[in-house]
Amino acid sequence: MSKKIYDKANSIIELRGVGKKREEIVDRLTSMMEDPIVRKDEIINNALQDLAGGGITNNDNGEKFYLRDHVVEEMSRLKPKDYLRYIRYRYSYDMLPSGHKTAEYPPLVQIEPTSICNYRCVFCYQIDSRLSNKKNGHMGVMSLDLFKKIIDQLEGKVEGVTLASRGEPTVNKQLPEFLNYMSGKFLASKINTNAYLLDEKMSHAILQADLQTLVFSADAASEPLYSKLRVNGNLDRVVKNVENFHRIKETQYPNSKLITRVSGVRFNDQQEMGGMEDFWSKYVDQVAFVDYNPWENVYDADKKGVTQPCSDLWRRMFIWWDGKVAPCDVDYLTKLSNETILDKSISKIWNGKMYQELRANHLSGKRNGVEPCSRCVVV
Ligand code: SF4
Repeated sequence: MSKKIYDKANSIIELRGVGKKREEIVDRLTSMMEDPIVRKDEIINNALQDLAGGGITNNDNGEKFYLRDHVVEEMSRLKPKDYLRYIRYRYSYDMLPSGHKTAEYPPLVQIEPTSICNYRCVFCYQIDSRLSNKKNGHMGVMSLDLFKKIIDQLEGKVEGVTLASRGEPTVNKQLPEFLNYMSGKFLASKINTNAYLLDEKMSHAILQADLQTLVFSADAASEPLYSKLRVNGNLDRVVKNVENFHRIKETQYPNSKLITRVSGVRFNDQQEMGGMEDFWSKYVDQVAFVDYNPWENVYDADKKGVTQPCSDLWRRMFIWWDGKVAPCDVDYLTKLSNETILDKSISKIWNGKMYQELRANHLSGKRNGVEPCSRCVVV
């Protein structure tokens, strides 16, 4: 299966279970337009002007900022006092990439608690032994000490923090301590898991951590499709864990603001939303499919000839378990970067030579001379 582009801004292709408070939230936001904080802050000011339906945009191609359905749901769980802080993050995440603008910090940072995964999904780079064979040095688990150093740099500067990248976060036994350390520090925090190792201790740690979103990665609602896609997985065990998590959340954390979502990669025609929603919506708030990005063999794939710049260069930074920094997880063997946060700050790397050169190459039409960007379809 191959396709022309993977549009990161619209990677959620189907989503069920989102709230309907859009008007209320937009009204509240636009009523703050005269607030001195809004007037002084260019990003928030631009966001509210766009939402109000007129006014300038920070974007060269004239796109306007709007609240996507899942963003409305996220905002509906926030206290109104946090709206402006959140909207600053969300505008940066959605609009700075398309305007090719950077701020001092990336809008979102993805941290991998580990690069190890207990699954070998057919659409994932874990099937590439250059990554997953322990002898090659890419496999490992982040220390709590390093995690704290990263969080200390991000607190107050970045709102979007996702725990997940190349590996399965729950493989790291110290994940409860990670979650405890970051609790209450970010408005858009998220963790992804395949739920295979989601036991009671991990469930309580997640529910106590003031996270905004928990994503269960599952692409099917029945066997044998689940195991065909999620190799090494076990649907019965995953369902039991998700069900238990739901029960704990409902009975012991009735005021939890956590959004739970089952999210599948739309990989083949047998996967359909109706069955997914019927099956999973008993246990979670949302059910989604995300687009398939053919990244599992990017280094060996044909050149794709995509000329648009990659939005991840303005949207996200990835920090691996050992402190190495990568501009994306398509480059899972880290060919694009020699940077590590052991040597430099996150802000210095984001605005430093590696990112600047990559952005310049993409903007000047030289993406096809950069590996593996030339073989990648992310825009
Ligand atoms: S490989 Fe290049 S084009 Fe693909 S996601 Fe990474 S930075 Fe973007």
